[in-house]
Amino acid sequence: MKCTVVGMWGGFPKKNEPTSGYLVEKDGFAILLDCGSGVAAHVQNYIDLNALHHVFVSHYHYDHSSDLGTFLFSRMINTQLKRVDKQLNIYGPADNDVKSRVDKVKQNNFHSYNKDSTFQVGPFSIKFHKNAHSVETYAMRITDDAGHSLVYTADSSYRKSLARFAEDADVLITECSLYEEEDGEKMGHMNARDVGMLAEKAGVEKVILSHLPHYGNLEELAETFRKVGAGEAVLAEAGMEIEV
Ligand SMILES: [Zn+2]
Ligand SMILES: [Zn+2]
Repeated sequence: MKCTVVGMWGGFPKKNEPTSGYLVEKDGFAILLDCGSGVAAHVQNYIDLNALHHVFVSHYHYDHSSDLGTFLFSRMINTQLKRVDKQLNIYGPADNDVKSRVDKVKQNNFHSYNKDSTFQVGPFSIKFHKNAHSVETYAMRITDDAGHSLVYTADSSYRKSLARFAEDADVLITECSLYEEEDGEKMGHMNARDVGMLAEKAGVEKVILSHLPHYGNLEELAETFRKVGAGEAVLAEAGMEIEV
């Protein structure tokens, strides 16, 4: 499978660079992981909105879900224009408000999930891990029909269970929101040292550092990672393509 980083900033977007959004594709089938600010506009550099029928949302913080409404309207209007006849499926943690917002807009469907859920969508199987974050949040493990796997942490403090969930993944896309002197545990996020430990414990060789902070020297995140983590780590960039 191929994963394209649509956006990778934590909190808010930069000019032409969205917050969280990752497009995962195989054999002409696509799913989107998170839809933060700017993702609906920028994902169109890689795929027609009408060809995308499955959006998985990790949690409802704005930097992961603020374009949800944009996706709903696009499906409704493009259906009226007869450009698409399939429903758009939104998957997220159970939330009555989100469910009613999604179900109210025609041609959109909401599916809630929890840590025990598994979805089979096209060539992908998707499983979830409940994270340590300020709201209900899930990491996702996507395995394709050839057995290749991608783990996306979304937002979380470091947990051993998260390392077990990511075990032996071919690629780990992990949040790396903080520098090593900042305490991730308190903030519900991971610093670069936590991320190194996560990758090391999980035995992952290829790591993409994402959900990046808007301050400091980002290269330091990768340097800290290398002191602790095994494997190769690169900073995520908008438009980056990752072969899994
Ligand atoms: Zn976030
Ligand atoms: Zn968050």
